[in-house]
Formats: sequence, structure tokens, C-alpha cells
Amino acid sequence: MIGDSIALKGDVAIPRLGLGVFQARRGAETQAAVREALRIGYRHVDTARIYGNEQDVGAAIRESGIARSELFVTTKLWNDDQGFDSALRAFDRSVERLSLEYVDLYLLHWPVPKKRIESWRALERLLAERRVRAIGVSNFMVHHLEELLRDASVVPAVNQIEVSPFLQQREVRAFCKARAIAVEAYSPLTKGERLNDPAVVKIAAQLERSPAQVLLRWGLEHGMIVLPKSSRASRIAENSKIFDFTLGADAMKRLDALEEGLVTGWDPRRQP
Ligand code: NDP
Repeated sequence: MIGDSIALKGDVAIPRLGLGVFQARRGAETQAAVREALRIGYRHVDTARIYGNEQDVGAAIRESGIARSELFVTTKLWNDDQGFDSALRAFDRSVERLSLEYVDLYLLHWPVPKKRIESWRALERLLAERRVRAIGVSNFMVHHLEELLRDASVVPAVNQIEVSPFLQQREVRAFCKARAIAVEAYSPLTKGERLNDPAVVKIAAQLERSPAQVLLRWGLEHGMIVLPKSSRASRIAENSKIFDFTLGADAMKRLDALEEGLVTGWDPRRQP
């Protein structure tokens, strides 16, 4: 396996590098990306019902021949499927498409108003039935987490949110840290939007690394799990070479100074 793991609540080990497959086209593209990632040592794949490629992730996993117990697979409950019974049915369909008996991590994809609490109860049920090894949320800001924690029997193991030096989410990360909720950084490469940032490019040149590697390393050094997406073999490899160097205090400080509230996808901050 490339890189290290951290222990989630319930003592489930999660590899800190995961391959994202959002916008990897269903069929050959997703299958090739996952196949290549597994071949070179990734052991964690992050998909979702809405990405439309769960079956391709499953196919590449089967083809790899890697023992199920060595892999970490995440999928997510889509918004239309929120609700107690509908969440349980949606989970069944996801595992069917993935052709897996269990998933390692199942997430509420988005804090859907009025539905998220009952959806969470469904995830708690799946955890109790051992059909998932861990459950968590995504796109939950502090007010969503506070509401959930008032009601939940199980504290989420993970909160998957957009994080990069340009969107640091300090308040949410501090809240999660205090409650031992691991933070997964999605769009850690800013979907490519800030790979040419002069400060990032300079640090990359000084360390003889790429801008993408610098952004991912920043996430690791802040204790996060990083989920870069690429469908290209050369970048899948590049994005994995982040465990054999450190940024150092000075570069970390310069990256920490890049906050600009950059949201590259959807923005949960104003979701009631
Ligand atoms: P990323 O920040 O990972 O950026 C992906 C983009 O960067 C792609 O266009 C990719 O192109 C390009 N890229 C990848 N590696 C490199 C590199 N080394 N150099 C230059 N360009 C590169 O964006 P995502 O939004 O895809 O986020 C990553 C993952 O996070 C998703 O795939 C998904 O799993 C998760 N996610 C979760 C969300 C949620 O709501 N929970 C929302 C968004 C993402 P190419 O493929 O051509 O290499």
C-alpha cells in the first residue's frame, strides 16, 4: 500500500491517500483509472451513487485480485435517496452495483434539510448490521454537525469536505478534531484551478516536486485524508508520491497564507 493509514472511530484503518472518481466517465475510463491506481499501490477508492461509476469501481476491484480486506471503498447516499427506508434501499443498490458484500465507509453526500437525521439513523442501522465498517458525512459544516450530534447515537467517523490551501475550512476542521472526526479533503487539487498559483509553483520548484504534490502534502501535514482524482496513469502515479518528503515549517506557513474562500464545487456553507 502507498502511504500510511489512520484509525477511524471503531478502529477501522483508512489509507490517507484515496483515488477520487468524480467525473471519471463510466465504463472504460473509470475502470482503467482504478485498475492503474490499484496496480501501483493505492488501496482506497472514493466513489458515490451519483458519479454513475460504482459498477466500474467494482469491476476493477474484482479484476485486481487484491484481497477485499486490503481495500478501502467509500460510497455515498445521494440526496434523492435520503430518508430512512429509501436510504436502506439505496445502500442495497450501491453494494449490488459495486458487487461487494460491504463497504468500508458510507457517507451522507450532502446535509439535506429535514431528511438528514432520519438518513443518519439508516446509516447507524447499516453499521449495527455490519454492512459498513464506518459511517460518516460529507459537506457538513459546524451547524450541521452540531444538529446531528444532538441526536445521533453514533458520532460520524468522517466528514468529507472541500479543503485546499485556498479553502482551509479551519472552523469545521477544528470542530472535527475536537470530536475525533477524521477530515477527508475533496477537490484537494482545486480541480486544477490553482495549480499555477505562484506561491505553490515556487514551493514545488524549491522541493523539486509538482504543484499537485505540494497541495496534497499540505493536506497530509494537516492530518487529513486526501482524495485526488485523475484518470491519467502518469498523474495517478504523480499524486501518490507524497509520502517521501515534507514541506517544512516555512512552506507550510506560506501555504497556510493562501486562504481565499475558493469553492470549486458546491457550497454547503449556506445550506440551512
Ligand atoms: P481534484 O481537486 O482532485 O482535481 C481533479 C482535476 O485535476 C481533474 O481535472 C484532473 O484531470 C486534474 N489533475 C489530477 N491530477 C493532476 C496533476 N497531478 N496535475 C495536473 N492536473 C491534475 O478534484 P475533484 O473535484 O475530482 O475531487 C477529488 C475527489 O473528491 C472526487 O473525485 C471525489 O471522489 C471527491 N469529491 C467529493 C465531493 C463531495 O461532495 N463529497 C465533491 C467533489 C469531489 P485528469 O483526470 O485529466 O488528470
